[in-house]
Parts: sequence; C-alpha cells; structure tokens
Amino acid sequence: RPVILWFRKDLRLGDNPALAQAVAAGRPVVPVFIFDEGPAVRPIGAASRWWLHGSLRVLAADLRARGASLLLRRGDSEAELRRLIEETGADAVYMNRRFEPDAFVHDADIAQALKADGVECHGCNGALLCRPGTVLNGSGGPYRVFTPFFRTLMATASVPPPMTAPAAIASVRGLSGEALEDWALRPTAPDWAAGFDWTPGEAGAGDALAAFVSGGLKSYSKGRDRPAEPATSRLSPHLHWGEIHPWRAIEAARRAASDGRIAPAEADKFAAEVGWREFSAHLLHHFPQMTDTAFRPEYDRLPWRDDPAGLRAWKRGLTGYPVVDAGMRQLWAMGWMHNRVRMIVASFLIKDLLIDWRAGEAWFWDTLVDADLASNVQNWQWVAGSGADASPWFRIFNPVTQGQKFDADGRYVRRWVPALKDVPDRWLHAPWTAPPAVLQAAGVRLGRDYPAPIVDHAEARDRALRALRALPGGS
Ligand code: FAD
Repeated sequence: RPVILWFRKDLRLGDNPALAQAVAAGRPVVPVFIFDEGPAVRPIGAASRWWLHGSLRVLAADLRARGASLLLRRGDSEAELRRLIEETGADAVYMNRRFEPDAFVHDADIAQALKADGVECHGCNGALLCRPGTVLNGSGGPYRVFTPFFRTLMATASVPPPMTAPAAIASVRGLSGEALEDWALRPTAPDWAAGFDWTPGEAGAGDALAAFVSGGLKSYSKGRDRPAEPATSRLSPHLHWGEIHPWRAIEAARRAASDGRIAPAEADKFAAEVGWREFSAHLLHHFPQMTDTAFRPEYDRLPWRDDPAGLRAWKRGLTGYPVVDAGMRQLWAMGWMHNRVRMIVASFLIKDLLIDWRAGEAWFWDTLVDADLASNVQNWQWVAGSGADASPWFRIFNPVTQGQKFDADGRYVRRWVPALKDVPDRWLHAPWTAPPAVLQAAGVRLGRDYPAPIVDHAEARDRALRALRALPGGS
C-alpha cells in the first residue's frame, strides 16, 4: 500500500523530514499539494500566491526528475486526503507540521480524524529550529523576551544531520490532478508582479544562501541596516515556504566563520536574526490571540484614527516622507522591503498617522512575498509597542533622521523615488525644507512631482505621545 506525502509549507526535497520518513517506509509515495482556501486558516495574500505558483512549479519538476509526480488537488484538505486514500489504498500520511496556531489545530484535527479510520499520520518539524512548546523558561512557561529565549534555544536545540534529496522516489502513477495554471495564482491584468526579481524554489533558495555567504555576510551586522546595500540574505520567502531548512542557513554561516572567511560575530548575528523568526513562531504558538489583539491589552484602548486618505497615501508611497515612500514603493515593486525600512514605515503608520497596526499588517500580508503570520504580527506589535519584547512605547522613529542615518548618500531613496534623484543629499530626506531654488534646479515641484508631507512629524509625535501617555501604565 502506498503512503501519502502531503506538502504544504515545506516545498523542498532536501532536509525534508516528512519526505525522508515517507521514502524510508519503502513503499510507493503519493506526493500531493492541496490548495485549500477554506475558512480554517487565513487565506494567503496576493504576493504569496505568486510565490506559491513558482515554488510548486519547481517542486513538480524536481520530483519529476526523480521519477515521481506532484499531484495537485484543490478543496477541503481532509476531504481531498480521504478521496486520495480511497483512490490509492494508502494507509499512511506523512507531513511536516505547520505551526501557526489555526493551521496547527486544523492539521491535528485532520490527523485525528484519519487515525480514527485507521490511517497512520506522521507529523514532523521541518520548518523551525525547535518545535514550539519545547523552549521554556525555568518555571516551564513561554519566554516573553528574545535574548533569554534565544540563549535557551541555542543551548538545547540539536542540529539535525543533513538529509540529501533522494535520487529516485517510487511513486504511484495514473492519478489525475489539477493543472497549476488553472489555479490562477499569478496576476494577469495588471501584472503587478512583472518586476519581481525572485527565483522561487529549492535551487533558488540555495543560490540565495550561497550568494549571501560569499557576499553580504562578511559585513552583515553593519550592512543589514543600510537599505541600499545588498547585505542581507533575502531568504525570508524561501524560509517561509520551506524551500530551505533554517538550520542549513545558520550552518552555512557558521561554516564560513569556522573556515575563517568571515568573523564569527557575523555568523552569530545572522543566527540571531533567524532566531527572531523562531521567537515569533514560538510566541504565536503560546499566545494565538496575538494575531488580532494586542499582546499588552491596554494598547487596544488607543484612540486609533479612521483615516482612509492617510492609509491610502501610505500604501501608495505618497506620504511626502522620502524614506517611507521609498519603502512602500519597494514593497509594491519587489514584494519585499528591507527590514530597517519596514520598521520606519510601520512606525510612521502607527505613530505618525495613529492608524491601527492591524491595517498595516493586512497590507503587508497581501503584498509581501515573505508574508508570514507569526513574523508579521510579532514585528507589527513590536513597532506598536504592544508586543511581548517590544520597542518601548515612547520610541517614535523620526522618518527624516532615520533616512539621513541609514540612507546617508540617498541611494535607496533615489532608486525608489526617482522624482527626487537630483535633490542634493542635504535636503533629500526632507525636501520641503529645501530652498525653492534648490527644488527648482532639481526639477521638483512639491505637491506635483512629489507630495508635500501629509502630516507634520513633530505635531504627529506629540499627538501619539499624548495618546500613549493616557494608557494605563503610560506616564
Ligand atoms: P536577513 O537579515 O538575511 O535575516 C535572515 C532571516 O532571519 C530572514 O530571512 C527571516 O527569516 C529572519 N528574520 C530577520 N529579521 C527578522 C525579524 N525581525 N523577525 C522575524 N524574522 C526575522 N519577516 C518575514 O519573514 N515575514 C513577514 O511577514 C515579516 N513582516 C515584518 C513586518 C514588520 C513591520 C517588520 C519590521 C519586519 C517584518 N519581518 C517579516 C522581518 C524582517 O523584516 C524580514 O524577515 C527581513 O527583512 C527579510 O529579509 P532577509 O531575508 O534579507 O533578512
């Protein structure tokens, strides 16, 4: 009897524990991906759909090269699995667990229902360094602060041995599935993804890692804050879709350090950032309500403004603050934004516009190719000050000084806001302060070629601080 290998967010063949176990069972394998848009789990956003299309195409080709075919099915996961069990006579399902709380519960329910009918279900961890729930503090509870969490994680976690992709996979033939194209995962008109420069899939993930290890990693701790530099790994969408195991990324960095190619501190810094991904997943596991409500409940009493025009200007990169607009335009053009700029634009939305962080989280969810429930929610709450190990509430980024500090030579702003390309560095991050003759020489008419600021930062900051001070615990 064959076994089912149920792919979800583990779209790779190497270092894939569910696949390794399924193959080790020594029986024919039925690899399947079920596109389930049912209500149990938050539907993926538009940029994620684009990524999923590319990644499934690569996975199907990689399986074909090993003699197996990826079956595509659409509909309710449990119903589709049962149909497949009926068609093939399979009596076991292998899967890598998803750890977002809703997905985790949904998968567990399915596994329980199948087991009740005599189908074995094997759930593995192929997504995280450690299973959520296994990194606990001295009193057996979850960590709320990153540094001790990460210390315990690194002290207790064991690195799984590398698992190379099997050379051949015996699979069941003649099953009928759907065509990927019929799922219409990619945009057509307008094709807003036309400029995306990504290579979804396992090989693309490996190439991104190799490029990073021989490039940005050597100056990662400084370079990672400079949005114009290609100093970060850009592994986030690959990690999200499970095209690479997080341990493999950390190990590649550690190897570069032990070979003397980079300073050990750079590998440590990179591991810590991957650790933030882990911290986000573990936090959400323990506090599933975080997706909708503030981790610190008093923050849900903030007098959020209903400002559709401000929200629209923010989404379109038309706030009049160059680094904010550059970030939002990079997001639209690439489906990705540099981490430093994510913090700046999020702070601008929450604190300068006093718009609920959930509106920003939803926009990121739809537009990021790396949209990840745990990381997105955790980071938005971090910026809002309402999260577990959050930025202090009185920290309000100044979008002008942030731009001047992290994009001092203006390369990032000039790339994404070309209307400002001839504005001299001195005024680039606050063009409204430039003398009229300077703007004229740069060919910029404020309000026409580029917007005037939609809020005055100093006034907006005071407004936010007043609102925050009024919260219980504010002072
Ligand atoms: P690198 O610097 O190369 O880091 C390596 C890996 O570590 C990343 O790929 C990512 O998996 C992880 N990582 C790095 N920083 C963080 C962080 N702060 N939190 C969690 N994981 C991190 N990241 C997502 O993957 N999905 C999201 O939906 C997401 N939303 C965000 C929303 C906001 C408001 C902010 C401030 C950050 C968000 N991040 C999110 C975190 C971070 O910005 C991205 O992971 C990072 O920019 C990805 O680029 P990289 O792969 O080049 O990162």
